[in-house]
Amino acid sequence: MTRQASGDIAGVETSRHGVLGADLFVDCTGFASVLICKTLGVPFQSYKSYLFNDRAVAMPTPLDAPDSLPSETVSGAMKCGWAWTIPLTNRFGNGYVYSSDFIDEAAAEQELRAHLKQHDPAVEARHLKMRVGRLERTWEHNCVAIGLAQGFIEPLEATALMIVQDTVENLIQAHDRADNPTRVREDFNTKVNRIYDSIRDYIYMHYKLNSRSDTAYWEAARENPVMSESVRQILDVWDNGGDLLSEIKRQSAQITYSPTSWFCILAGMGRFPRKSRKATHKHGVSDHEQARKACLEMLRHFPDHKSVLDGMRTAVAPAA
Ligand SMILES: Cc1cc2nc3c(=O)[nH]c(=O)nc-3n(C[C@H](O)[C@H](O)[C@H](O)COP(=O)(O)OP(=O)(O)OC[C@H]3O[C@@H](n4cnc5c(N)ncnc54)[C@H](O)[C@@H]3O)c2cc1C
Repeated sequence: MTRQASGDIAGVETSRHGVLGADLFVDCTGFASVLICKTLGVPFQSYKSYLFNDRAVAMPTPLDAPDSLPSETVSGAMKCGWAWTIPLTNRFGNGYVYSSDFIDEAAAEQELRAHLKQHDPAVEARHLKMRVGRLERTWEHNCVAIGLAQGFIEPLEATALMIVQDTVENLIQAHDRADNPTRVREDFNTKVNRIYDSIRDYIYMHYKLNSRSDTAYWEAARENPVMSESVRQILDVWDNGGDLLSEIKRQSAQITYSPTSWFCILAGMGRFPRKSRKATHKHGVSDHEQARKACLEMLRHFPDHKSVLDGMRTAVAPAA
């Protein structure tokens, strides 16, 4: 790596093409953050005090029915974290995201195997370490980090690729601004940091509002005294029967999730206002049984997930 007197990166040394110079460098080296952290020294802000999970163990299992394929990812709570099951066209991808402060690698693998009923030692487990948090500045000098190089939040809401997209869009907008370059960079960094922090807050709520008491992990997550100011205000308004919609609108500049998502996580986790406000107008009460029947009826008009995917594959397959 060569640097200019200004601190900018002048060139990167590559194994096959020698030194490559450029005006702008994109660091997409994953958790290694080779340019932005190791070369430019941008500090990394860990979210560990908010989100305890820092490891994952992954393992495939075969599809259980050859003629059908579920269309949804299923996530479920485990003793010290949560597990995902993602249907792929040829297998299920499974994994357990957990905190190494509460369970070790071997015990996590054992728990995942039991959860999946996958006891065959020939099926290997892949263990991953996760650096959870974000850079203090995603854009430093003439380098912008994108992807795992800029940060990572556990995949409970599968947000990583969305952040990549948002970062690229913000970079394009910043590039088009004919403003003071330092201000452009600062605004960009503020926007990206807000995206990260607000997603962290929303994921945090999944843990903070839990009601499990079977393991120290869940209890510690519930009792966690660390809380952002934004979450503190949302909980305060909600618990006191205030106007959550207005509060979220007030915070809209720094919030990523929609009001609907906040209502869902609060009520869905069983947290309800201590004092309820009187309804200002009458709302109809949904008939769940009727809604269920209507959904099942609609389902009859859709093709099966597997046949749709098979059809897509046939459509793009090169002619023999
Ligand atoms: C457990 C887990 C579950 C996830 N689930 C989801 C999900 O459900 N939804 C979602 O949107 N995202 C998810 N993600 C995130 C998603 O996988 C990542 O956002 C994406 O893969 C990041 O790609 P990347 O290119 O930034 O990093 P990587 O895929 O890690 O690529 C970095 C590359 O840089 C290379 N490299 C490193 N150092 C050097 C060097 N010195 N010179 C040259 N090359 C170098 C590496 O070899 C690697 O090829 C998940 C991530 C994890 C860990």
